[in-house]
Amino acid sequence: MKPVWLALGSNLADPLQQVQNALDALAAIPQTRVVAVSSFYRTPPYGPQDQPDYLNAVVELATALQPDALLDHTQRVEQEQGRVRKAHRWGPRTLDLDILLFDRQTLASDRLTVPHYDMHNRAFMLVPLLEIAPAITLPNGTPVASLLAPLDRTQIRPW
Ligand code: ATP
Ligand code: MG
Ligand code: MG
Repeated sequence: MKPVWLALGSNLADPLQQVQNALDALAAIPQTRVVAVSSFYRTPPYGPQDQPDYLNAVVELATALQPDALLDHTQRVEQEQGRVRKAHRWGPRTLDLDILLFDRQTLASDRLTVPHYDMHNRAFMLVPLLEIAPAITLPNGTPVASLLAPLDRTQIRPW
């Protein structure tokens, strides 16, 4: 079993219910269990501002699946919860499940970039990640806490 950290985000159709359903669905993925769940945070939208605030959280999983197989499941869960992929990026969504870190692996395929390519710019990912994994480092040894230090975290509030 390898540790994986997933970022959850929702800003449509009852975000609290979306995230609670997602946690149940993640716990049901084969060869996978939920190890830790962060607090739920209310955060301003990233990118286009004309959309509701987000609920963001991070969950630690332990999985025996390969990264692609885990992504198959997280994308299935997104689809099952009514995710519609729009032409433009960062629009409102019922559920987004992004793999932040997969053990100590560095991956760059068509489908999967790990560590998440933009986590260093996103306090809404780093604050919940550090809540449940304060000492975590990137595969290259950089402490994740050092990524958060220069970011504005004043807009990351309790849900
Ligand atoms: P962003 O990736 O900037 O947060 P987004 O989450 O809205 O934007 P999606 O539409 O959810 O983007 O995903 C777009 C594609 O990103 C997916 O088809 C998936 O194959 C790819 N992808 C690459 N790396 C990852 C990752 N670490 N976790 C999840 N999806 C990833
Ligand atoms: Mg995303
Ligand atoms: Mg995504």
